[in-house]
Amino acid sequence: MFKTNQRATQNYWVKPLTFATPFLYGESLTSWLVRAALKHGCSPLTFTYYYWPQYRIWTYDVDKGFDNIDEQITYDIAVLTDDNGDAFDNLILIDFLNNTSVKSDKKTPMLWTAPLSKRNRYSLIGYPYCPDCMSNDKEAYLKLQWRFTWSVCCTKHKSFLQVDCGHCNHPYQPQLLSPEQRFINRCHSCFGKLDQAISDISPSEAIDDFQQLADKAYYSKQGVILGQVVSMNQWFEYLLFLINLVRKGLKNPNYMFGKLITALGIDTNTLSLPKTALRFDFLPVNERVALLECAYHLLQIDADDWIVVCLAFNITQNSFQWSKSTVIPKAFSAVYNQLHRVPTRSYEAQSENIQPASPKVVMVSWNRLKRKMQMRESYDKHKES
Ligand SMILES: [Zn+2]
Ligand SMILES: [Zn+2]
Repeated sequence: MFKTNQRATQNYWVKPLTFATPFLYGESLTSWLVRAALKHGCSPLTFTYYYWPQYRIWTYDVDKGFDNIDEQITYDIAVLTDDNGDAFDNLILIDFLNNTSVKSDKKTPMLWTAPLSKRNRYSLIGYPYCPDCMSNDKEAYLKLQWRFTWSVCCTKHKSFLQVDCGHCNHPYQPQLLSPEQRFINRCHSCFGKLDQAISDISPSEAIDDFQQLADKAYYSKQGVILGQVVSMNQWFEYLLFLINLVRKGLKNPNYMFGKLITALGIDTNTLSLPKTALRFDFLPVNERVALLECAYHLLQIDADDWIVVCLAFNITQNSFQWSKSTVIPKAFSAVYNQLHRVPTRSYEAQSENIQPASPKVVMVSWNRLKRKMQMRESYDKHKES
């Protein structure tokens, strides 16, 4: 939170813009910077270089705000927009880990944020947008909300978000536009208008309902889990827990969690795991949609049903400890606290009847060993020659 009257801008050339460009509701900082630049007949690169020549602004993900670059930029933008800055807090990507049980470290990318994978000013992944929201030149802008990975469709137009241009399939990169394109709804590569949907599939009713619910949790900063009102952060923490539960179940459909999600109404036969085992935020829209659809189904199951099914499959509190870093969301405690807890075993000296490793594990070790041997052989050859 900042106020321009508390700390005036130090850049004497920063004055309210000639052609007023106020922030639009829910707009992202990327969107505003690009719109302001094009409105003044220059490229986003020239615009940011003019005001902040000491920084290469577009090599950063500007939607994360400027606190880690230079707070002065934030003050400058407030002057440029002639805004008192109150709106600013809602314009940057937030850390959903605040006020949850999850602890983050600086190295971990921000949870729920779609990566742009920047190499210099170029992004390897395009900026998410709704093709229908981009149809009107003058009204088009980018919503910050689209940068969150729980956003998969536009509830206004009921169309999926996409990250590539519908004409040339290049990743959409508004920061690379030039003044000739004039509006933000253009592709920097083929100059085409970004109103072409790439997929002709429409979101299911369940996904549309989910999107509305998630939007509501985001804008009202709270949601309902198992009949209790919880904070927005806790709501999204629970959602991620359900997504991980679905992934766990799909990995081994015949094992405990596979049986659990089947009993709770998810058809594990028709679903498949994401092709890459990457974290949710790095998955493409279609794979995120499949997981969110299942998570939304689980979101509607009440505490009593959870408890009955967990007890039926002998699921204990320990069963949920998938790894050392597993955190049980606060919102799930109404169920979790009702489950048995098995005292953790202390490891005894290895006995004769150790369980043999699974064939998969054996193959992985065998392949690693082969690789080692091959490397050793080629090294030996290299030494001999
Ligand atoms: Zn739309
Ligand atoms: Zn294009």
